[in-house]
Amino acid sequence: MEEANSEFLNYKGTGMSVMEMSHREKHFLNILNESLADLRDLLELPSRYAVVYFPGGATLQFSAIPYNYLATGESADFAVTGVWAKKAFEEAKKFYPNVKSIFNGADSKYTELPTITDDLVNEGAKYVYITSNNTIYGTRYKTFPKLKKAPLFADMTSELLSRKLPIEDFSVIFAGAQKNIGPSGLTLVIYDKEKLPEQTHPIPNLMNYSLMEKNGSNYNTPPTYSIYIASLVFKYLKRKGGLAAMEAVNERKAKKLYDALDASSLFYATVPENFRSAMNVVFRSHNDSLDSKFLALAEEQGFAGLKGYRDVGGFRASIYNAMPEEGVDSLISFIKEFERTHG
Ligand code: PMP
Repeated sequence: MEEANSEFLNYKGTGMSVMEMSHREKHFLNILNESLADLRDLLELPSRYAVVYFPGGATLQFSAIPYNYLATGESADFAVTGVWAKKAFEEAKKFYPNVKSIFNGADSKYTELPTITDDLVNEGAKYVYITSNNTIYGTRYKTFPKLKKAPLFADMTSELLSRKLPIEDFSVIFAGAQKNIGPSGLTLVIYDKEKLPEQTHPIPNLMNYSLMEKNGSNYNTPPTYSIYIASLVFKYLKRKGGLAAMEAVNERKAKKLYDALDASSLFYATVPENFRSAMNVVFRSHNDSLDSKFLALAEEQGFAGLKGYRDVGGFRASIYNAMPEEGVDSLISFIKEFERTHG
């Protein structure tokens, strides 16, 4: 943000802000193409994978994926592990009523994830859809399914770029930018070009993977300033040592926070150890009557957004890439002090 601020009015001596440039102008084209190349480096993407920017947030992909990958009468399998997976499932079902749920997280109040093997995959499923990190419930797949029967698709909105990935186990990965990438609204889609089916029906242009890819993420005017911010983030991550380095810090941050919760007599983490997210740490207190006091005090001391999602209650610490380790240390001290004075 400091870098963006320093060249906000005058990008590299052009006398223009990036947001004033034409999306066909050479400075912007450089930003766009370099950002895609940097992202390829960070993810170590084989050449058969395309990376494309889309507008519309992660939610647009809930519609775009079935449009691009299913034909009338076809089906796909969904692991319904949270609010966002359910939304994606319901959106696909609207257009392709044969899609199936292969796991219903409601049975464990969304605190557990399925072990997905080929045995669980329905005959004829064109893909298996997972949400790799469930932002609201604080669960993630520690290791990912390895499937032969159907390609694996993943919504990685709340964890892309926070850890190394076995990219070749996936055929589609997408992420809204707002957690670890850049401003909301911008969306990244990574897909294996060899697995994209022939188009059998019309697809709206702004959801059409092959059209957007052929036009280099520049079919219409893309969210240029958001792409510019993402380009700075990718360079920053490369300077920091890439995804392995980010993963090491993120695992350390999450572990110390979960350890503090496990040792607490007042608070507890709601998710069993196997499924705990490194990005969203969800916890509750044994004494609900103290919740509003905890949140008020937290806010007073500068801890933002600790209130749990409206349907879940309790607390959630979102500790994305941009949260420094000291931020987590301060939260742990705050939790301990609250417990000492109120426990
Ligand atoms: N998927 C996941 C995992 C999310 O966390 C979110 C929002 N936080 C979405 C999808 C929806 O994203 P958007 O608001 O960009 O459509």
